[in-house]
Amino acid sequence: MLIFDKISDISLFLAQKKAEGISIGFVPTMGALHEGHLSLISNSKEENDITVCSIFVNPTQFNDKKDLENYPRTIDSDEAKLKSVNCDVLFVPEVKEVYPEGAETFRMDFGNLDKVMEGKFRAGHFNGVAMVVDKLFRIINPSKAYFGEKDFQQLAIVTELAKRNHPTIQIVPCSTVRESDGLAMSSRNILLNKDERIAAALLSEILFEAKKKSNNSSADELKNWAIKRISENKLFQLEYFEIVDSTTLQNITNRSDTKKIRACVAVKIGKVRLIDNVEL
Ligand code: AMP
Repeated sequence: MLIFDKISDISLFLAQKKAEGISIGFVPTMGALHEGHLSLISNSKEENDITVCSIFVNPTQFNDKKDLENYPRTIDSDEAKLKSVNCDVLFVPEVKEVYPEGAETFRMDFGNLDKVMEGKFRAGHFNGVAMVVDKLFRIINPSKAYFGEKDFQQLAIVTELAKRNHPTIQIVPCSTVRESDGLAMSSRNILLNKDERIAAALLSEILFEAKKKSNNSSADELKNWAIKRISENKLFQLEYFEIVDSTTLQNITNRSDTKKIRACVAVKIGKVRLIDNVEL
């Protein structure tokens, strides 16, 4: 696996590969890699000649300084995991390489997409995500980029960003990989203590129960039921549970108005914030 930390070096390397007609798949991550990330790498390896993974804990998408400080950083084991799945290239830039000018402004109007759910609870988060993905897309310029459905709203934002700024890059959505008890894999899961980790599994349990109920319940009934179930567990602090149109992320009032519906949830368990979603 080739490892780069300078934009000029990786750009030159990939430009040469592209000139040779080699296709590039890209998997951006913030590290602390798990099977979910590795599934994105393996999807990319199947569809491209070369797979590039980036690891960059992007400061501009953290609205909470403590969260940024506590974000797990496990670069040695990340490298070993990427080698074990034969990832071709790793890009690990320093913050000053990505943001040489320090604080930068980037504004893109995503309409409703960045106002709802995460947007309400993490001010500026998606602007930071869009800013770094835009930069990374310019540096790597892949044919395809792989993003997890685990971060469903992020996937919607990145799809919109690509449509507007990078029309040649195809965004490939990848299914959520779960632990054996259903908990969606997340880099933050290692921050949960034993009791919190046990409670965390209830989140996906509720989502999958909601999926079963969804044919016989209205959106409001389902939402009220799920909120009650979540509130019953004292370790959970609910931020939101929403039933939305998968494309517009608008709340659903009438099921027959839309074809694809998603239930999305965010809770805090102790200091750890977890999100998850399922298609209904
Ligand atoms: P992160 O390192 O958390 O920024 O995630 C990097 C990429 O991996 C994003 O596209 C995430 O949606 C994706 N991802 C994170 N967790 C999972 C999971 N459990 N299953 C599938 N993809 C995931």
